[in-house]
Amino acid sequence: MPNLSCYNPAMHYKLGWIGTAAFQVMDGPKELVFDLAEGQTLPPEFKEGDGIDIVLHPDHPANIAMGMNSGYYEVTHLESGTKIKLAHKTSEWRFDKKLTCEPCDLRVEKNGENYIYKKPGVVVPTKLENYHVLRQAYETRICPLCGCAMNELS
Ligand SMILES: [Zn+2]
Repeated sequence: MPNLSCYNPAMHYKLGWIGTAAFQVMDGPKELVFDLAEGQTLPPEFKEGDGIDIVLHPDHPANIAMGMNSGYYEVTHLESGTKIKLAHKTSEWRFDKKLTCEPCDLRVEKNGENYIYKKPGVVVPTKLENYHVLRQAYETRICPLCGCAMNELS
C-alpha cells in the first residue's frame, strides 16, 4: 500500500500584484509574497487574477544541512501551462512557518534562532530534543517522525 499521506499535491492560488523583484500570491484571503531571483522575471502570460498551481520540491535534507538548499517551488500558470521555478532560498526569509504533521500530531516552528516542537500528550521521542532534527524538519518540511511532507499552518 502506498502511503497516501506522503502525496504532495499542487496547491491552487491566484496571482496578485506582480513587481519587478517579487510577486504576490493569494491563498484565499491570505497573502504570500515570493521573491524573484536576480534577473528573473515572470513570463508575460502571468497576469493579476490568473490561477496558478504551486508545487513544493524540497531539496535532500543532507544538502540543506550543509547550507546548500537547492529546493524550489514549481509555479504553473494554469491558462497557458507555462511553468517557472523559484528557488526556496530566495524567499524563505519571508516565511515564518508553522509546520504540522497531522498523522503524528506534531508541530514544528521557529522561535528566533531556535526551533520548537509541540506534540501534545504521549511520550515524545528524544530525537525531537535535537536541534538539527528540528531545523532539518523545518527547512525540508519533512516530518522527522514519519517522513511525510508536513503541512503549513496559517
Ligand atoms: Zn509525521
